[in-house]
Formats: sequence, C-alpha cells, structure tokens
Amino acid sequence: MRPPECAVCGKEDGCELLAFKQSTSDKNWEKRMKSMGGVGHPPWQEWFCEEHAENAKKFTNMTLKDAWPEMKKRFKTS
Ligand SMILES: [Zn+2]
Repeated sequence: MRPPECAVCGKEDGCELLAFKQSTSDKNWEKRMKSMGGVGHPPWQEWFCEEHAENAKKFTNMTLKDAWPEMKKRFKTS
C-alpha cells in the first residue's frame, strides 16, 4: 500500500483511497498476490485528496486505465 498522496496533485492531507473497476490484469494481479501471500498496492486503487476525490468518484465504474484520460481532461492537468 502506498502512503496517501493524491494521484492528481500530490497533496498528502485528507486523502481517500478510491477503488476503480478491476481489469483482467488487475484480477490476475490479485490472484497472484493471494497465492503468494504478498501485499502490494492494488493497481486499480488510487489516492485522491478531498478536492479530486469528488470528481474521481464519477469514474470508479471504469478501469483506472480508462478513467485516467477522462479525469485528466476534467482536472485540466497535463
Ligand atoms: Zn488532489
């Protein structure tokens, strides 16, 4: 698990971990982690600060890979 830090702006205060839709590779990752008893940061989860979590929540029905371009447009980040 990564320390809380907003994936958009890097803010560390008041971050919320959002889980997005799992892609096939994410599901494989989970299986692999379970079978080896490993822990890591789930690739379909990301931290967002209060400000960005509100928008990001609208995209959690998409995989993180698909959601990123949409969120970037909305957040107007490069
Ligand atoms: Zn942020």
